[in-house]
Amino acid sequence: MHRFFLLPLLALLLIAPAFAQSGETPRARHVVLFLVDDLGWQDISVPHHTEITPFNKRYRTPHAERLAREGLVLRHGYASAPVCTPTRTSIHSGRSPARTHITYWTLYADRDQTRPWKRGDGSSLIAPAWDLNGLGQEDATLARIFSDAGFRTIHAGKAHLGAIGSSGEDPLNLGFDVNIAGHAPGGPGSYYGLHGFRSNGRQGKPGKSVWDVPGLKAYHHHDVYLTEAIAMETCRAVREAARDNKRLFLSFAPYAVHAPIMANKKYLQHYPDLDSKEAAYATMVETVDHALGALLATLLDEGMLKDTLFVYTSDNGGLSAHGRGGERHIHNAPLRSGKGSAYEGGVRVPWIIRWPGVVQQGTVSDEPVISHDLYPTMLAAAGVSLPKDEGRDGVDLAALLRGEDLRREHPLLWHMPHFWGVNGPGIQPYSALRQGNLKLLFFQGDGRIELYDVFVDPGEAQDLATERPAETRRLAQLLAAELQRRGAQSPRLNGGGQPLGVLAALAKMQR
Ligand code: CA
Repeated sequence: MHRFFLLPLLALLLIAPAFAQSGETPRARHVVLFLVDDLGWQDISVPHHTEITPFNKRYRTPHAERLAREGLVLRHGYASAPVCTPTRTSIHSGRSPARTHITYWTLYADRDQTRPWKRGDGSSLIAPAWDLNGLGQEDATLARIFSDAGFRTIHAGKAHLGAIGSSGEDPLNLGFDVNIAGHAPGGPGSYYGLHGFRSNGRQGKPGKSVWDVPGLKAYHHHDVYLTEAIAMETCRAVREAARDNKRLFLSFAPYAVHAPIMANKKYLQHYPDLDSKEAAYATMVETVDHALGALLATLLDEGMLKDTLFVYTSDNGGLSAHGRGGERHIHNAPLRSGKGSAYEGGVRVPWIIRWPGVVQQGTVSDEPVISHDLYPTMLAAAGVSLPKDEGRDGVDLAALLRGEDLRREHPLLWHMPHFWGVNGPGIQPYSALRQGNLKLLFFQGDGRIELYDVFVDPGEAQDLATERPAETRRLAQLLAAELQRRGAQSPRLNGGGQPLGVLAALAKMQR
């Protein structure tokens, strides 16, 4: 008698794990990072402010609107840094720039692109000895871990994760199985296939330059926009992954909407009231949205979309200090300033997350999140073990995605001890943190501390540092502790010596 029972019981025990996998804790079979370059907080038609803005009405992004309808909009979502490489390397390493020491954008190995910051007394602030090469083949990148777990790992578009002459210049050395048009530089020579995507082609000259987009030869001499070419190649690679029955980790990072601002002429008719520069910019945004639509359609067609964690965001705030049409520093309004700045315009960016069965459709959250949260979030969502590492700064956003409270032990932190080289509000070497609704900024060059309630004052118009001394003190002390905990490097003065640290600046301010 007992033998008859034993076999079915064993069979049940053996298949139990399969039930658990498809039970209450869903796992994303596929993970997609859709990382637009330099896309500002107001650069899409999905509202991220408490009200619909003129910019929301200007831009045409129906596919981003669909993502928002089917997912979660994070209105207080941030980039890890106000420029490209530190944010990108933070996403792929799970560490804040303060910890990676990749605190500025990279180009050539061992060459610093930082400009000195001129102080009021005539001396200059210079950058610390930071990691000039970016990520390398030794790093436990997202792609490396997903690849080791059997995923097809695809990078498409701008990489900008490692410098020319270092291993990280090639995404294939960072764990990607497929690389479509990605390399070290952070901008394309041209967006036009007719130019061969070359900067000399843009100027009507022969010859190569470092900014020439690699690959995509089949599109050269054709009237095709770079974002479209990258999207077509990506959709093909996604279909191949589906055909091979592979789980997918896709890093889709169009070079757009980074400079050079070049119109996709077929959409110019949509923007008759804008100046030529802003109209061109709007067509770049619209072209990215068409790429999003093509990618979503391909994932749906291949039966993958229902099992995909899809994250849409940007690597820094919108360009506003130069190169745009109209008045400067207001392209991210109501936020202050833009790319390169410590203020919200430099780091607050669109964030939309779609994950069927986990994220409730059409929801909005004001919980602050930051780019390097994506590393643990994506791995955990896919059920892939995270590497043992005490030095990770990102937190798994799973609770927030389920609609529950997110527990975060440490504040959001920014640290860029570099001057971007263009003048504008908040475009200075700085460190900052956000805890709750408050954001404390420390400008390293002149030892200035500012405090804002960015929940009620997203434009950072009213500095509360003098008015609320106890909170200023508490947050300045927290900033000092966080910088130390993460091993952040401080800038120096030319000719030797150190500028005031945040605690000394606090003491001077409150004596
Ligand atoms: Ca960027």
